Amino acid sequence: MLKIEHLGIAVKSLEQSNELFTKLFGKTPYKLEKVETEGVSTSFFMMGDNKIELLEATNPESPIAKFIEKKGEGIHHIAFEVEDIHAEMKRLQGEGFTLLSEQPKKGADNKLICFLHPKGTNGVLIELCQEIR
Ligand code: ZN
Repeated sequence: MLKIEHLGIAVKSLEQSNELFTKLFGKTPYKLEKVETEGVSTSFFMMGDNKIELLEATNPESPIAKFIEKKGEGIHHIAFEVEDIHAEMKRLQGEGFTLLSEQPKKGADNKLICFLHPKGTNGVLIELCQEIR
């Protein structure tokens, strides 16, 4: 893994949270993107080299809806940038980690992504992401 690519925060209302975080950060999101296959609407804020992703559920079955139901709003995942997502998925599987998908999926912000099961990572949901080149 190369570095933290972004932090994901689960929110109930993207519209309200965009306003809140725009006030907090003193800047507006550089991107709004809906990923229907993942059941999320997202926004991204650039903070120097770091990004913050806000995620709102687009339907009641969305993983974000379930997360908020169980734990409330808050930090949802940490995403790490990887050079080669296929190689990294294979390496982590070999180390005994459980992946939430067998193949990388298309995520927001031009990324291929894969999540690790939080049961195997001290309760932290970890996302691997590789820039689509
Ligand atoms: Zn993410």
